[in-house]
Amino acid sequence: MNSDICRKKIALFGATGSIGRNTLDVIRRFPDRFELFAVSCHSNTAALEAIIDEFRPKYAVITGEGSLKRTDINVLRGKEGLEEVAAHHEADIVLIATLGTVGIFPTLAGLRACKRIALANKETLVAFGSVVVKELENSRGELIPVDSEHSALFQLLLSWKDDAETLILTASGGPLRKLSREEMERVKLADVLRHPTWNMGRKITVDSATLMNKGLEVIEAHWLFRFPPDRIEVVIHPQSIIHGLLRLRDGALVAHMSTPDMKVPIQYALTYPERLPSEVRSPDLPDLAALTFEPPDFDRFPLLKLAYEAINRRKGYPAVMNAANDVAVRAFLDGKIGFLDIEKTVFAVVNEFRGTDEDLDALIEADLWARKRAGEVVDSLV
Ligand code: NDP
Ligand code: MG
Repeated sequence: MNSDICRKKIALFGATGSIGRNTLDVIRRFPDRFELFAVSCHSNTAALEAIIDEFRPKYAVITGEGSLKRTDINVLRGKEGLEEVAAHHEADIVLIATLGTVGIFPTLAGLRACKRIALANKETLVAFGSVVVKELENSRGELIPVDSEHSALFQLLLSWKDDAETLILTASGGPLRKLSREEMERVKLADVLRHPTWNMGRKITVDSATLMNKGLEVIEAHWLFRFPPDRIEVVIHPQSIIHGLLRLRDGALVAHMSTPDMKVPIQYALTYPERLPSEVRSPDLPDLAALTFEPPDFDRFPLLKLAYEAINRRKGYPAVMNAANDVAVRAFLDGKIGFLDIEKTVFAVVNEFRGTDEDLDALIEADLWARKRAGEVVDSLV
């Protein structure tokens, strides 16, 4: 059999990032199954050139500044470039691992063209969940989660959807899990970037420290699985071995476990409904003796509570919260504001917001408004 015929062609957006590199590892491991069809980066064109040298994709999209030195590849730009590739008749799977909310454009374009969207970029669902769900209802495309907790829940729900009463997302608790509010006031960037269990990009690592990441994930789970927020729980589980659990109606509790390595959920999103061998070993049973669980502390981590409020209110509140958080985290990463100024900025912007419609244009406008206001709040804190 000609292996080219059954090789799946993958468009990988955010190829130069943490999820992007892990995805390339999976593709490298299965050259007979997968072929890299297209890649994107924002501005790290040197890293993109190296990926192109190795994988020889047909298309490259650059969403920010910079250009490629070579002429042996089709180069597209911006969100229009992402959309064109996502809808390309040759692409089978579109894996979206960009930062921010630009992911909405290739998500919608890919669904319209009946593609499999493997979605890592949770911010897209948080801000535009209602729009994505509507598109999915009219599409023969698929939306498969890459986020580890959602991959776990997706897999559990394949067996127990009708009997599941509650979804449980685990959270490591992040690097500041045990700190008091006074200690958080003084915490340094390097402390925040030292995540105990996961090796990820800088933005999501900061979100893990504020527990905003888990708040975003509650909203992501709401849209992916259509469970109301009061049937989505969060539990702190510092070892990150269990990623998701379901409470079933007969009192059973079922869990999905794996070693914390993003290659596991990435590979599953690419191969679903099949499972292929992995280089990542499953956890050893003696290690499970040390698993611990505790409830989240909403007082020390108020952004998690805000995320529940935002999804209960809807009307663009999740989009505004997410956009303000994006701006605040960037300012923290740039050394402009302190750690607790992140939540101060997010609360200031959300408290000013008065709600909007849930269509794409209105949500984009709310996102832009929140980014502008958050920038002003940040400037006032500097
Ligand atoms: P990284 O910061 O490591 O990588 C981000 C990627 O997106 C890079 O390729 C970057 O290009 C590109 N990018 C940056 N800014 C933009 C922009 N404005 N528009 C388009 N592309 C951009 O991030 P991660 O890989 O950690 O995370 C990617 C997404 O996946 C996020 O939404 C995150 O929440 C989600 N996620 C990540 C997990 C992880 O383990 N890392 C786990 C679960 C979800 P360049 O290199 O040129 O800057
Ligand atoms: Mg996650």
